[in-house]
Amino acid sequence: MTRPYNFSAGPAMLPEPVLQRAREEMLNWHDSGMCVAEMSHRGKEFMSIAEGAEADLRELLGISDEYRVLFLQGGASSQFAMVPMNLLRGRTSADYINTGSWSKKAIAEARRFCTPAIAASTEDDRFSRAPVQDELKLSPDAAYVHYTPNETIEGVEFPEIPDTGDVPLVADMSSTLLSRPLDVSRFGLIYAGAQKNIGPAGLTIVLVRADLIGETLPGTPAMFDYGIHAKNDSMYNTPPTYAWYLAGLVFAWLKELGGLAAMAEINRRKAAKLYAAIDDSSFYANPVEPRARSWMNVPFTLADPALDGDFLAGAKAAGLLTLKGHRSVGGMRASIYNAMPEAGVEALVEFMREFERTRG
Ligand SMILES: *Cc1c(COP(=O)(O)O)cnc(C)c1O
Repeated sequence: MTRPYNFSAGPAMLPEPVLQRAREEMLNWHDSGMCVAEMSHRGKEFMSIAEGAEADLRELLGISDEYRVLFLQGGASSQFAMVPMNLLRGRTSADYINTGSWSKKAIAEARRFCTPAIAASTEDDRFSRAPVQDELKLSPDAAYVHYTPNETIEGVEFPEIPDTGDVPLVADMSSTLLSRPLDVSRFGLIYAGAQKNIGPAGLTIVLVRADLIGETLPGTPAMFDYGIHAKNDSMYNTPPTYAWYLAGLVFAWLKELGGLAAMAEINRRKAAKLYAAIDDSSFYANPVEPRARSWMNVPFTLADPALDGDFLAGAKAAGLLTLKGHRSVGGMRASIYNAMPEAGVEALVEFMREFERTRG
């Protein structure tokens, strides 16, 4: 059986070598006689898996000792609440940049805890661009600045990291972390649900500067306290052990590939091929300003939306799955995370050309 190319925004494809390795180790991990899912999280076998995964992630991203790396549950959506609960630290407002659907959800959740000030919004431009530095109305009294470097639904990506001076920068990197090298030292906190670009659903990665943790809002539950998770090496309660293990296999795969610089080169090429196919045609269109086009999520429309159903059916028959755009945006969306092979993008481009030739 040949594997189809799955363009889902998440849960998304995992690298085939990772799945092969997990299959080989499924019934008997390293002569332990156990599946990783059966192991005690406090036993030496799982501890070695957990520590190895963290070490590899630190190496890939060049994360310094000033940062804690947390392996949590609850998805990025829980982080929308955990960030204000932990990072307000006595202040009453935080700055939020509004660039799309996920920014809006983060802002709505922050309203439960503080007054989020909108430092910039591209909503009037239908979220088709990223704000430039001069547009940001940043307050020196803000507890932190929150933004979404890659808007998964609209396909908008910041081409540079905003400069927030001494105010900690917080980033929801759910759909872009590990897609290319990153200067983690620019951030106070980075979070990402794993199911886009890191591993399976159920795991959430948080990188947080150690000096920012330890002062939570009154009433913060233990499970929402970064300090408690950090002190317990993400084992305050039972962590998502199998997801942690699979993420570790993904980190090892990335290292073998040559690290994030090598991954970035492949991702840049994949995105360039797909955008070129869209731009070279008068049948397909992408609404995002070129400088802010996402490398990971590529929304596009057909000139005649009445053909959407035929496009999706034909794509599916060609082994190109889950191309339907988000219900809020319509059209198509191709998510081309790290695990999407270049050949998958080439197959999609080929299908698009043929569909336009015969139906356009
Ligand atoms: C998918 C996604 C989320 C939501 O993640 P969950 O893990 O489902 O909570 C939040 N932010 C961004 C940018 C996303 O892509």
